Amino acid sequence: MLFQRFTLGLLLASSLLLTSIPAVHADDDKLVHLYSARKEALIKPVLDQFTEQTGIKVKLITSKADALLKRLQTEGRNSPADVLLTTDAGRLHRAREAGVLQPIESEVLNNAIPANYRDVDGYWYGLSLRARPIVYAKNRVRPQQLSTYEALAESAMKGWVCIRSSNNIYNQSLVASMISSRGEAATEAWATDFVKNFARPPRGGDRDQIKAVAAGQCDVAVVNTYYLGVMLSGGKADERAAGEKVAVFWPNQNGRGTHVNVSGAGVTAHARHRDNAIKLIEFLATPQVQSWYARVNHEYPVVEGVESSELLNGWGEFKADTVNLTELGRLNADALRLMDRAGWR
Ligand code: FE
Repeated sequence: MLFQRFTLGLLLASSLLLTSIPAVHADDDKLVHLYSARKEALIKPVLDQFTEQTGIKVKLITSKADALLKRLQTEGRNSPADVLLTTDAGRLHRAREAGVLQPIESEVLNNAIPANYRDVDGYWYGLSLRARPIVYAKNRVRPQQLSTYEALAESAMKGWVCIRSSNNIYNQSLVASMISSRGEAATEAWATDFVKNFARPPRGGDRDQIKAVAAGQCDVAVVNTYYLGVMLSGGKADERAAGEKVAVFWPNQNGRGTHVNVSGAGVTAHARHRDNAIKLIEFLATPQVQSWYARVNHEYPVVEGVESSELLNGWGEFKADTVNLTELGRLNADALRLMDRAGWR
């Protein structure tokens, strides 16, 4: 009796399994699930284009970057996600370390994306480039007074600096780039002096630092350029007015170059549509998509030879730090501890 019930259950289970197999296969051919830290408006048009060209539908889920990583970890092998799209190499590295990504081999991506803008083992690929230079108050600071990130720690600049807190990954990656270039001891000495030059305790995002410079609360700030781009081209009159009071200065041009970072994507560890996932990331690296994607986010393309926007061109060309961004992920924990010791809140 017990045996009979068992076989009946087994038969039922296997017939259910059989009926579900064709559905899974159909999905395999035409679907890809994307978890995106980029807002829908900043990615959807390009996904529609992908569907139009390949017939592969994209199921898009957007959320905050850290929430998406947590979600992937919680879902584990049950996650529907095939691709994770997020910002900052430090975060992409965290995703790799958390075991939610898998390595891929793609000649297309390896040819299109410079080696320093992708993971050394193929776990993630940079898709847009953001720079983190100095912005300064046009009416109070002369560009000749500026030179390097290092010089912002000199005692002559006491009370000059606005910058967001050390719990922000952009600053962690900036400090990681300095550790990589100059070593931990020199970077810690710098950070200790740098903090003394803060005009106020760190608060707010990059846009708030730009507004504080415009309002005269400080003279310089270290920010990602796309925030200035959004302020200058967005619809808010007060933000535009603040943006117009500052100018961009490219630091470290005679040395390692200005700090840059990426937004990027990787195939998830349990992707059910792995081939489609790779196709989607490759699509995002094609020249026409690179141009659109960089423009809409006020960022730079990662692919060489692709034009960036007029607004960005207006800030001039600059030499970017060529450190492999994988290194910034590896040094993230060291950077965070160092900033803490230096009293960078
Ligand atoms: Fe940002």
